[in-house]
Amino acid sequence: MLISDGGAPKVRGAVLQPITEARALVAAADRCFVLTGAGISAESGVPTFRSDGGLWKSYRAEDLATPGAFARDSRLVWEWYGWRRELVQRCAPNAAHLALARWAADRAGVTIATQNVDGLHAAAGGPPPIELHGSLFRMRCTCCEWREDGRGPIDATSAETLPRCARCRALARPDVVWFGESLDRATIERAFEAASAADVCLVVGTSAVVQPAASLANATHEAGGAVIEVNPVETPLTAIAAISLRGTAVGVVPVILGSRV
Ligand code: NAD
Ligand code: ZN
Repeated sequence: MLISDGGAPKVRGAVLQPITEARALVAAADRCFVLTGAGISAESGVPTFRSDGGLWKSYRAEDLATPGAFARDSRLVWEWYGWRRELVQRCAPNAAHLALARWAADRAGVTIATQNVDGLHAAAGGPPPIELHGSLFRMRCTCCEWREDGRGPIDATSAETLPRCARCRALARPDVVWFGESLDRATIERAFEAASAADVCLVVGTSAVVQPAASLANATHEAGGAVIEVNPVETPLTAIAAISLRGTAVGVVPVILGSRV
């Protein structure tokens, strides 16, 4: 395994030789699967759940992003989602999102799957990403199949002002996958199919602890493909990574995709 924290010359925090290897691997791959997590959006100003900025009014995300929290206090949960929507709307895709979008648009065989709900991959353009955990900018009905995209403010002043279904008037909820909920079956199947068929799985900015998303890299590895990880710190995936690049998404991703040297 190549790990980039040795003594070789550095390109913005990662050493040159593993970067050259990573560039060669992605350039030669017929099929590439990309898995991203909150870390890719950190340099756009979106806090990760596990950073200090991930706290809101001293609540932890794990206590708000659950079906139980919504059942107990839907107003509080909607207030938090309203705050997150506003926060993310002030953020723009960074050089890593943009390089991935351009790369996926320019060549066949690239699938981008994200655990993020911030919509920044979609905002970067290119083929639509697989949004494994849904989107902050979509809501759905708690009773029927209604769904709607939207970026407007959320009025969470009282239970009466919360978003409602346009079809049956039942309470609406954010169209995201909460802790304790299952991912949409067709979505995760599509992701596993692409991961298993990939020659290279590029993992960017995920702590790889949330399942089943974290197992996608294992699917590539078990099918004989190579895993390349970009993360400032070691993660559970480091053990299976052919190359582990200890740098940030913005510093490393554009370089390995050949958009910058
Ligand atoms: P995480 O917060 O658990 O881990 C983030 C990872 O990114 C860490 O391993 C960290 O070392 C790394 N990282 C930090 N800065 C980085 C940078 N500049 N470049 C590259 N890597 C960097 O996030 P996760 O693994 O995505 O899992 C948390 C869950 O929280 C997911 O299910 C996701 O849906 C949700 N979440 C989403 C967002 C978002 O949409 N932006 C934000 C917070 C949490
Ligand atoms: Zn409805």
